[in-house]
Amino acid sequence: MVCNMITVIKPGATQQQIDGLLNWFHARGLKTNVSEGEFQTVIGLIGDVGRVDVDLVKGLEIVDSVKRISDPFKRANRKFHPADTIVEISENVKIGGGNFQIIAGPCSVESEEQILTIAKSVKASGAGLLRGGAFKPRTSPYAFQGLHADGIELLEKAKAQTGLPIVTEIMNTLHLEMFKNVDIIQVGARNMQNFEMLKELGKSGKPILLKRGLANTLEELLMSAEYIMAEGNENVILCERGIRTFETYTRNTLDLSSVPVLKKLTHLPIIIDPSHAIGIAEHVKPMSLAAAACGADGLIIEVHNDPKNALCDGAQSLTPEEFGDLAKRVQAVREVVQS
Ligand code: PEP
Ligand code: MN
Repeated sequence: MVCNMITVIKPGATQQQIDGLLNWFHARGLKTNVSEGEFQTVIGLIGDVGRVDVDLVKGLEIVDSVKRISDPFKRANRKFHPADTIVEISENVKIGGGNFQIIAGPCSVESEEQILTIAKSVKASGAGLLRGGAFKPRTSPYAFQGLHADGIELLEKAKAQTGLPIVTEIMNTLHLEMFKNVDIIQVGARNMQNFEMLKELGKSGKPILLKRGLANTLEELLMSAEYIMAEGNENVILCERGIRTFETYTRNTLDLSSVPVLKKLTHLPIIIDPSHAIGIAEHVKPMSLAAAACGADGLIIEVHNDPKNALCDGAQSLTPEEFGDLAKRVQAVREVVQS
């Protein structure tokens, strides 16, 4: 039976004692996941814990407690890893554990002038990262599909000129080589359960922005994160981008309750995408403020210098001026919430 268990180690245990216990677990065919927090070390056990005599482990001098965990997600589970995960994108750009970031930029990279103009303006108003799609998952095969490799090159150019790390979506792991200079690889809602892709991204070790699928539960989102983490990549950022409901006045329904619920279940950072959720530019700001108020670790916002003529998602794109106002107000909300 595959199930999981955690062993909480007493403060003051030596590394040698901990290593001894880890070796003892490994000898029983179990995989271990060690989380060293400020106050306690937790050893997560993955595998057939039926081979472990729980009473014997409980009785060990260095063991504080042993708990069985029934959740199907393990490495993503906060019980395995009590402290918030901080995904480090660069020396001064971090997401999670109190580090809040706004990712901003167009739905799609359209031209050099477009991406450079937007990159400079969002940077000036407080964005920490630049987004822009080069491979676009469009409902219609006749709609603009993105600039592909040229789009990624233009993002790299914008990064070189502004210093902003870049975020862009992958749709095929055969393209992974093209993403080598991309700072965060986005897995779009439509690919959340592309499990073979998730495994490959797990092997890549790159920070991954994993968007919730249009009709997926939070448990399914966490299980998709688990696919990436099971390959050894802990750099996963979850993203709520709206789910499909019976409502038609908005593009999707923004499930903000996902923030406190996910915060309880997982140590991974959670960011909100109000642009794709609500789909209407004038409503993006209030939902961004609400996301900041309920404890999200960041936002991803679509910004375009000419929304009316955007090749994709113009209706939900803010102008750089509107984005500047949003960023300022989000900052104000964060200060109130933190105080
Ligand atoms: C996007 O970010 O441009 C996008 C296509 O998002 P989603 O996968 O959430 O629809
Ligand atoms: Mn879009």
